[in-house]
Amino acid sequence: MQTWIETDKNSDFSIYNLPFGVYSIKNKNKKIGVAIGDLILDLEAVSELGVFNELNIDSNVFVSNYLNDFISLGKKTTVKAREIIQKELCNVSSVLRNDNSIFIKQKDVTMHMPVKIGDYTDFYSSIEHATNIGTMFRDPKNALLPNWRHLPVGYHGRSSSIILSGQDIHRPKGQVMLNDNTSPSFQESVRVDFELEMGFIIGKSTHLGESVSTNEAEDFIFGKVLFNDWSARDIQKWEYVPLGPFLAKSFASSISPWVVTLEALEPFKTTGPKQEPKVLPHLESKGAKNYDINLEVLIQADKENEKTVSKSNFKFMYWNMCQQLAHHTSNGCNINVGDMMASGTISGKDANSYGSMLELSWAGSKPVSLNNGDSRKFINDNDTVIMRGYCQKGSIRVGFGEVKTKLLKSL
Ligand code: MN
Repeated sequence: MQTWIETDKNSDFSIYNLPFGVYSIKNKNKKIGVAIGDLILDLEAVSELGVFNELNIDSNVFVSNYLNDFISLGKKTTVKAREIIQKELCNVSSVLRNDNSIFIKQKDVTMHMPVKIGDYTDFYSSIEHATNIGTMFRDPKNALLPNWRHLPVGYHGRSSSIILSGQDIHRPKGQVMLNDNTSPSFQESVRVDFELEMGFIIGKSTHLGESVSTNEAEDFIFGKVLFNDWSARDIQKWEYVPLGPFLAKSFASSISPWVVTLEALEPFKTTGPKQEPKVLPHLESKGAKNYDINLEVLIQADKENEKTVSKSNFKFMYWNMCQQLAHHTSNGCNINVGDMMASGTISGKDANSYGSMLELSWAGSKPVSLNNGDSRKFINDNDTVIMRGYCQKGSIRVGFGEVKTKLLKSL
């Protein structure tokens, strides 16, 4: 595929990608756009040129605070819309070439939350991560709890505190039990951590009582974003038994602004780890359902350069998205367009592929070096955590951009 738009070969937003996002210029209305190279294609303006005529889309759907209404048009329409854009951007005599105002420079806009998130669920689906945590906090010989290989463990999180890349957060306070104390104290968390995750956005609602099978699941997934599930390990350790994470997680999670569609990720599908023992029939999934997505976490200390602290890959996930969604709806729980499902921390086998500071510093016992002799066990005030992700096959690159969040001192 060859586009007439100038794009760098290392751009995440190649002609093969075309992710959707919500942007605004100065004080104007929020609009839906598609990223290509360093530019954004204004979809309202594109629609007004008539290129979506066969789809019968009202141009107004592109003047919106969120992608939800566009996504609700259904995959038949949204997939076709993306294909039309792709075709036009490759067609040297396209009508899009006559109107420069439909392209906006990414550096000139403000990006916004891409979807209005109704519900948010976080899974725990990397076997390396779950094993590391179980080894540290329980028993290395029985690191995985008995249910782990039989179902994708998850918990219901807060959607209210999911924020966009670029928004700063404050160090959370909470109840912790210090090692040498016999009673808890309420204080600033001293173990603030990131979790390298990917989120997927629900593209089709179900009715209460219905279940989605692993075979159907991809029809219900619109696309993916990078997801940093901020965590306070000291709060988590004290509160999590018996009902799981609560305030240790709900102070913030950050996402990248561009939603990469499942269709753009199709060439990067790969098979996941072998599941042993065999899962129950309702969770069985056939074929390649994992994705080869290179992931990276960097820490930028105040006034310093960023330093890579982890390199992982989404293909390591033991449970895939189809199984997560099948499990989530297996009891008849309904899902809605815009719901966010996060993968759980994505760790690999190697110690430099762990997806959290908890694992990288092995609960604070091995400091992680940054630039200029600096090191970290957890995240300090004024540190910025950056996550990036991309797929690459030959010269074809499809990337996610980044999710970048600075941790400020407690309020
Ligand atoms: Mn998490």
